[in-house]
Amino acid sequence: MFAKVLIANRGEIAVRVARTCRVMGIPTVAVYSEADRGALHPREADEAVLVGPAEAARSYLDIDAVLAAAKRTGADAVHPGYGFLSQNADFAEAVLRAGLTFIGPPPDVHRAMGDKQAARRRMAASGVPVVPGYEGDDQSDGALLAAAREVGWPVILKPSRGGGGKGMRVVRSAEDFPSALAASRREARGAFGDDRMVLERYLEKPRHVEVQVLGDTHGHLVHLFERECSIQRRHQKIVEETPSPALTPERRAALCAAGLAAARAAAYVNAGTVEFLLAPDGSFYFLEVNTRLQVEHAVTEAITGLDLVRLQIEIAAGKALPFGPDEVSAQGHALECRLYAEDPDHDDRPAPGRVLHYAAPEGPGIRFDSGVVAGSEVTVHYDPMLAKLVTWGRDRGEAVARMRAALRRTVVLGVTTNLARLQAIVDHPAFRAGALHTGFIEEHLAAPAPPVGPPPEALAAAHAALRLSRGAGSPEAAASDPWETLGPWRLA
Ligand code: ADP
Repeated sequence: MFAKVLIANRGEIAVRVARTCRVMGIPTVAVYSEADRGALHPREADEAVLVGPAEAARSYLDIDAVLAAAKRTGADAVHPGYGFLSQNADFAEAVLRAGLTFIGPPPDVHRAMGDKQAARRRMAASGVPVVPGYEGDDQSDGALLAAAREVGWPVILKPSRGGGGKGMRVVRSAEDFPSALAASRREARGAFGDDRMVLERYLEKPRHVEVQVLGDTHGHLVHLFERECSIQRRHQKIVEETPSPALTPERRAALCAAGLAAARAAAYVNAGTVEFLLAPDGSFYFLEVNTRLQVEHAVTEAITGLDLVRLQIEIAAGKALPFGPDEVSAQGHALECRLYAEDPDHDDRPAPGRVLHYAAPEGPGIRFDSGVVAGSEVTVHYDPMLAKLVTWGRDRGEAVARMRAALRRTVVLGVTTNLARLQAIVDHPAFRAGALHTGFIEEHLAAPAPPVGPPPEALAAAHAALRLSRGAGSPEAAASDPWETLGPWRLA
């Protein structure tokens, strides 16, 4: 096993990886930027190394700085988490070249799957159904327009090297095509340094379903069932669950078999996710392979009882998978809500600030994976996800009931969050009926949700805590009364 693991990430996932390493008895090294001096994740690791300034490009994305930290601390393996360098083939390669182990798939797999053109070609050649579309080398305006006409409107344009929904555009007619193409190319060049496009038929009201796969270095490949991640804003997931309420046992078996076929076509090793779109008629189409641990891996853990980070580490250390293809069983139902410091009433824009009071829900079937604590600063520099709330139930109804209750017991004061929106989603009759699709929020929750205030006891506790911490009663305390000095501070 590894002597020491460096966690090349921050926030919730860095804390999450450190937790498993602790259970396995493996010492950890955290890296942090100047903006994260007081953050939670450096405190959760055994050692912490400052790797650069706030700007991610000069800290968490700086390959040389991260590798220097590994060298300095004697780490022999690197866990990349998700986001940042996790799907960067050059990073995976640099880690190997430095004589360390990368806890994830080999560089070639990142390279092949990180390019939508290459991935679509490889999947189509292996018989995995892909969305009807175009991934040709001829990238002229004329060739792309002709392809769009042949595929049929509406179409979606995607940067071949894209991710995170950036640069994607839905186009509904030939008249709109040239300007949409120009805009997508511009964004793709800016964000990914590559303006090659793929084009797909835009499916109306699809569900997003994905298959968790695991491959070891001995040629074994298994799936850990599916997750449904249809509740999205700006093409990014915010509520996920497993199993998908849309699948019959037969469709589930077909989907998971397609996930395995895709993983086999990618020569997949370690933990990965094969994403599909599920059309209302039950047909499904390959979307992409994510060559890393997903944010939503916790729902799979909840129904299988497995620790995916542990399995990633064991696979990277050369161990064979401890179970065969039909030896993993799933029990019950799990949901995840992503709690973000963002403002759903203003285009989901990030809402930085200091977390003044923070209360996590507790109880049977509840898991709260957080990257912050009371006092943490949420900055503009990084993704503003605060925490993931996961509930498990014997069936979907119980998991939803636990989620509704848990969200009501979650309190964040000091920063604007999407908590009220999450509540509105899981309270919605369509959600409770399992009638999901990727446009769920636009269809059902376009109007701003009424603000939900924190429970009065939380407000009272926050007020008391602040007064106590400043020595209530003294003249200085009066002068520094938070209610006087916070200015245009808002609760929700
Ligand atoms: P990215 O790599 O940027 O995350 P994906 O290809 O994974 O992009 O797609 C992200 C989301 O965009 C999907 O979950 C879905 O909501 C939407 N989407 C992508 N392709 C299509 C399509 N062909 N039809 C309908 N929706 C799509």
